Amino acid sequence: MSRIDPEPPRDCPICPRLVAYRGANRAQHPDWWNGPAPSFGDPAARLLIVGLAPGRTGANRTGRPFTGDFAGVLLYETLLKFGFAAGRYEARPEDGLRLVDCMITNAVRCAPPGNRPETAEEAACRPFLAARIAALPRLKVIVTLGDVARRNVLKALGLKASAGVGGHGARCEAAGYALINSYHCSRLNTNTGRLTPAMFEAVFEAARGLLEQPSGQ
Ligand code: SF4
Repeated sequence: MSRIDPEPPRDCPICPRLVAYRGANRAQHPDWWNGPAPSFGDPAARLLIVGLAPGRTGANRTGRPFTGDFAGVLLYETLLKFGFAAGRYEARPEDGLRLVDCMITNAVRCAPPGNRPETAEEAACRPFLAARIAALPRLKVIVTLGDVARRNVLKALGLKASAGVGGHGARCEAAGYALINSYHCSRLNTNTGRLTPAMFEAVFEAARGLLEQPSGQ
């Protein structure tokens, strides 16, 4: 069986539309990252957070997931509050922020136009997600940010997307992991009140509670 690296190469050529978008962004902003956003965090993490895809001016610009765009502020502040991060989030990869027992990745590693990956692109990138999950030996809890991330995690685990229910705070057990779904911490969701900081914090409080349970419960 072939082994896939959990991190795609910087010049991953698999999705033509995303490669073209990467090239266009590179031509306009040669100082940006403009490549697949690498996962960020603790290789011994028990908590994995899975987002949808890098934002054009977020991870696609800075090279660190959720760094530099609106969604990162609520995410990193919440992780700091629940002890899954240490330091200070200053929206730049050199801010010294560390993730503690936690890793962040994306279901699709390259920025898609309009923040909308196509189904074929999700499928093409899924082996990297599966490899990322498999490469975390202590992993217990996966928080998915939004329904696309949730469905991709289920499929990456070899399950049907229908194996778990959607919605904010929905939980299920999948291939030995506890899955918790959250609405995405996007500007749209937070500005419209669909996702409040309290709702988002409740997800990470639940994750913390699961991690503190003695194993076997
Ligand atoms: S989205 Fe994933 S599979 Fe597609 S080009 Fe980027 S890294 Fe490769």
